[in-house]
Amino acid sequence: MTLISNHMPTAELQALDAAHHMHPFTNGNELAGRGARVITRAKGVTLTDSEGNDILDAMAGLWCVNIGYGRDELAEAAARQMKELPYYNTFFMTTHVPAIALADKLAKLAPHDLNHVFYAGSGSEANDTNLRMVRTYWAQKGKPDKKIVISRKNAYHGSSVGSASLGGMSGMHAQGGLPIPDIHHINQPHWWAEGGDMSPEEFGLARARELEEAIHELGEDKVAAFIAEPVQGAGGVIVPPETYWPEIQRICDTYEILLIADEVICGFGRTGNWFGSQTYNIRPHIMTIAKGLSSGYAPIGGSLVCDEVAEVMNDCEFAHGYTYSGHPVSCAVALENLRILEEEGIVDRAGAETAPYLKEKWDLLTDHPLVGEAKIAGLMGSIALTPDKSSRAAFAADAGTAGLICREACFGNNLVMRHVGDRMVISPPLVITKPEIDTMIERAWRSLDQAHARLK
Ligand code: PLP
Repeated sequence: MTLISNHMPTAELQALDAAHHMHPFTNGNELAGRGARVITRAKGVTLTDSEGNDILDAMAGLWCVNIGYGRDELAEAAARQMKELPYYNTFFMTTHVPAIALADKLAKLAPHDLNHVFYAGSGSEANDTNLRMVRTYWAQKGKPDKKIVISRKNAYHGSSVGSASLGGMSGMHAQGGLPIPDIHHINQPHWWAEGGDMSPEEFGLARARELEEAIHELGEDKVAAFIAEPVQGAGGVIVPPETYWPEIQRICDTYEILLIADEVICGFGRTGNWFGSQTYNIRPHIMTIAKGLSSGYAPIGGSLVCDEVAEVMNDCEFAHGYTYSGHPVSCAVALENLRILEEEGIVDRAGAETAPYLKEKWDLLTDHPLVGEAKIAGLMGSIALTPDKSSRAAFAADAGTAGLICREACFGNNLVMRHVGDRMVISPPLVITKPEIDTMIERAWRSLDQAHARLK
């Protein structure tokens, strides 16, 4: 039997991978042609591939390795828990200590009265929970017709049927007959691409007021909830104008609809505070969490639920749950992750020191001829690639080509940056140091130069 290991030649690993492994969000034929990059190890913010390249991971995996790679404490927490109680479920009146301890910790960390958690295995699952929970909540209150959830175009809420329907990605909707009924999408607060002649502040207000218009159009008695990411992540790190969230909050307070903040990316330090809801002064009834909760070391997600919604839900048996809801190993890993993020001051330092330094350096990229705006929210950021800064023009050729060329250049320069259309995004581990930020900017600049030369 061939032992498949890190010691195998890269080409052989790639061939086996292409033959048997179907990758998410990947064209299989392209993969078979080029071969996937094989990552073998990681430490801090640095990945090592099977060719021995050291790569700066400016995406923290998929926006999730907030604590950085290679923390043995998390591995040890997982091993301890696996030996003691590797699995038990939380259905049918049972529980276990890791689920209890993590719920208690989350209630203490979360803002306002988000004192309850419904566990899931991922962000997608948690948003499916939210969809069913808000409809069940209103049915419990004698309003079963309040079931429409308003979301936004270009939002990302996950890949399951429910969560991809909540999301507003047209490419995802085109596959598999989405969205499911009773989900309504309004426009996003993406000033650079869609703001026209308005100032960002005017545009933020106008886009927020689309929520009010939608509520009027659909009927207040039909709308259950509004869901949004504090900062759209996968949509391209769209930082909303300052006027946007206060107006959304006003509208949610005025009409009887629940507000769901999807903090799968924004949670656990990403925007410079523990939660994006704190950064943008949002008071959600439900908050979706995942990713940074365990820094990606173990799969776990959940819905943080406010007192009022939990009280109503507790009056019924919610016929919903996952085999891995509150998985003891994932809970133990998450608890250790939160302990380190808190005790080592990683979240505090990210907000107070790293984020301002990153912003200062990131803003310099606007001096590059290819870069229009540069946006930063804590430790997530984006730049818009444009052929003409003053008119905020998009590239005439296929949208996304410039971004793709730039991403390929980054790859060649040992930097992981992602492209969303013609926007380049970053979301590095919160532990990134100032010298590492300098290296990241230097490699990004070099990649932009190379992309610029190819686009001329
Ligand atoms: N919600 C947001 C805001 C996300 O960014 C993501 C993933 O990127 C999800 C939900 C889905 O999470 P998961 O991939 O864990 O299912």
